[in-house]
Amino acid sequence: MNSAARTSPREAQVIDDSDCGGSSITLKEWQGWGCVSPVPAMVNEVIQDLKLLENKIDSEMVFGGNGGKLQGDFKIQEDKKHRATYQALGDSGKKFQFFSARQIACRLLGSRGYLCQKCWLPMEDCMCSKVKPCSLWPGIRFWLYMHPKDFLRQNNTGKLLWQVFGVHAATLCLYGISEDEEIMWNTFKDAGKSKVWCLYPNQNIVPKTVQDAFNCQSSANLECTHSSANRDGPLHFVLIDGTWSNSAAMFRRLKEQTKLVWGEEDLHSISLAAGASAMHKLRPQPSWDRTCTAAAAIGVLAELQLLPECSSYGLDKQAEAVEDALDVLLEVLTARRLRMGRSITRKVRIRHVEYCKFSV
Ligand SMILES: [Zn+2]
Repeated sequence: MNSAARTSPREAQVIDDSDCGGSSITLKEWQGWGCVSPVPAMVNEVIQDLKLLENKIDSEMVFGGNGGKLQGDFKIQEDKKHRATYQALGDSGKKFQFFSARQIACRLLGSRGYLCQKCWLPMEDCMCSKVKPCSLWPGIRFWLYMHPKDFLRQNNTGKLLWQVFGVHAATLCLYGISEDEEIMWNTFKDAGKSKVWCLYPNQNIVPKTVQDAFNCQSSANLECTHSSANRDGPLHFVLIDGTWSNSAAMFRRLKEQTKLVWGEEDLHSISLAAGASAMHKLRPQPSWDRTCTAAAAIGVLAELQLLPECSSYGLDKQAEAVEDALDVLLEVLTARRLRMGRSITRKVRIRHVEYCKFSV
């Protein structure tokens, strides 16, 4: 089960290649995975290069592990080739985009026909029928700013947000994919800086809590962004969806883009209030990690719900819908682990950024 060939037989590839791009990702396939952008040009370039290399060295692409890692002889050859390509790219921006595109191309090829496109779980464990969709209050839009290494990961929890709320209420933006970042930043430009909030514990400044930022009554000197939310479009919340070690670079990129767009790099950041007070409505659930991406969204909704101005939007119900989906994911991952004879004493791990230090 550790390795599975994801490529067609060689005869099929010859037909593919003569077809000029039969192996590339179509818009339907790309958006099927939850993306909203057009197919990134660089991802398809990488895929074409991989296919060409496969023919040239007469060795099949083999993926293993969770699907995105090349293995065997092909991996050795491809390592050399992609390092050379990387070196040849002059500017660091291009290098970074190539890095992201290659990660995503490999994950796509390694997951084709193996993972369910909607829930990113192996077909036999598909949880789609157990997820109940729910409408997110239109005053809020979430953006999952996702590291390429988290794309198509079974234990990623950011994906649950668009499974529940739909891709237009919770939108995926892949870090380093210009087609995705463009869509997100064009939306932010239209919305205006005061409408964009990043959920991140910035060590250099004391981030505002949801209460500080949006409670008009308790914060007379702060911009009252909430009250304008209803009038001029939604508040945008960016959730950094990557591991702790990757999140600093992702946040840096968000600040760089903020500077490009608005001339100053201080993107509004908020953190969740520590402790159980804000989370008191959530049922006790020690088995899942309260700092994972989906839990961060639950936290935002739960804390906004406590504001008198927001109490009538049903945010608690919306938080609950994500919670239910998170429970389902945990159940499925645990059952899968058991079925494969792996220990469950080791907790099912959820990829996360630590959004806040809960005191509970
Ligand atoms: Zn599914």
